Amino acid sequence: MNKTIIVSNRLPLQVSIQENSLEIVPSVGGLATGMKSVHSEGNGIWIGWSGIPENDLSPDLSKKVQTKIRNEKCVSVPLTSQDIEEYYEGFSNRALWPLFHYFMEYTEFEQNEWDAYKRVNENFAKVVLENLEDGDTVWVHDYQLLLLPQLIKDQKPNTTIGFFLHIPFPSYEIFRTFPWREEILKGMLGSDLLGFHTYDYERHFLSSIKRILRLEVQFNEINYHDRTIKVDSFPMGIDYDKFYNAALEHQKSSIEKSDLRKRLEEHMSEDKKLILSIDRMDYTKGIPNRIKAFEYFLDNYPEYKEHVRLVMLAVPSRSNVPQYQKLKRETDELVGRINGKFATVSWTPIWYFYRSLPFDDLIDLYISSDVALITPIRDGMNLVAKEYVATRTNGDGVLILSEMAGASKEMNEALLINPNSYKDFAATLKRALTMPQDEQKTRIKFLQKRLKRYDVEKWATEFFKALEGTKKLRQGKV
Ligand code: UDP
Repeated sequence: MNKTIIVSNRLPLQVSIQENSLEIVPSVGGLATGMKSVHSEGNGIWIGWSGIPENDLSPDLSKKVQTKIRNEKCVSVPLTSQDIEEYYEGFSNRALWPLFHYFMEYTEFEQNEWDAYKRVNENFAKVVLENLEDGDTVWVHDYQLLLLPQLIKDQKPNTTIGFFLHIPFPSYEIFRTFPWREEILKGMLGSDLLGFHTYDYERHFLSSIKRILRLEVQFNEINYHDRTIKVDSFPMGIDYDKFYNAALEHQKSSIEKSDLRKRLEEHMSEDKKLILSIDRMDYTKGIPNRIKAFEYFLDNYPEYKEHVRLVMLAVPSRSNVPQYQKLKRETDELVGRINGKFATVSWTPIWYFYRSLPFDDLIDLYISSDVALITPIRDGMNLVAKEYVATRTNGDGVLILSEMAGASKEMNEALLINPNSYKDFAATLKRALTMPQDEQKTRIKFLQKRLKRYDVEKWATEFFKALEGTKKLRQGKV
């Protein structure tokens, strides 16, 4: 029986090694949920890194880890700390990530990191090929593995290969600056189907294909080496029911409220509103910008002083990359300055948390907030915006969303803004705070309907259906 092999940088599990025990806990992220039907419920396997550098493991322990991981239908790709430093923190996060998010000034092109990127993609290919049988389907995920489709296709041309990019694909003018642009594109073209979150990313990719590789493109098909490669957009959804049902549960009167919820509700009343923002601490998320725009709002609409509070959750991320350390310092300073400028004895304008919170606390934040302020400078999709909407079980609440987030393309009923315009930002925040309940409900209802219909499982099934379609096309069945 043919199987599906899912490949991503990290396996959907956490390995913890204590003195005498080895524990493997499956993680419940959005991607793992989407892949459920092909992985945990189907006959698929998942290939990726376990999160533990190989050089930290004795040969004996390494074997034990591999066996335990196998029980979860996963296979690990051994990576050393040097691989992680050069391929993941280096090339993936200091070259591809900033460039693909239009942060050219943060982009570092280092030859040794590119060499490591190629080497690690080859390591992944080796493990995939060891596990691959004729007729299998492979689905590769994300920017850490752009070369992998071609490495597999070269060895096993009959394999059906899909690739999905979870971050933006930048416009040609940005992508062309990349020193290894041809190699990256050719690596991706080992796929039979390439998926992006939005039509714009798809268009940018096709434009680079035409202008850099000079290939023939017809609508969304590329002709390459006598093969037809399909390119399409598949906006990733969330596990809608999980968020909606958790929010319902939290609102039951029989449930004891958490301390966080009680503290949040102390601030809430007819004329006091909570504004929420949640992001990883990443320069693409526009955190300093948002704080400055909030200052502009309080300066220009002083009647809101003492009547609004921004609850800002920033989740630590990539904290050994210098730009992220700088961003953390800048954020700390800005929050301090603005709280110092406006605070009164009974009010602090910004509540700032620098940590990750458990799922139940996230739900409490979502259900307690009148407005969600999601204003990245650039974001492939943004799932937080979708999660906020899913938890609004009463139908109220307002989502302010940056036009630069992929999610904005399917969330027209949100209040869409350009996060670089403080004036627009402040006026929109005022509009959100004064929006009549009826209008809030109409907007949220439309958004919820779409998110429920196009949830993460649907996203995975649609991609799979399209991928299977390419198989039939190759076999001349359609
Ligand atoms: N999230 C989390 N713990 C937290 C805060 C957020 O697990 O303390 C989750 C959140 O629920 C969402 C994800 O992190 O599913 C962030 O995804 P998004 O697409 O918004 O941004 P990314 O971090 O992938 O750029």
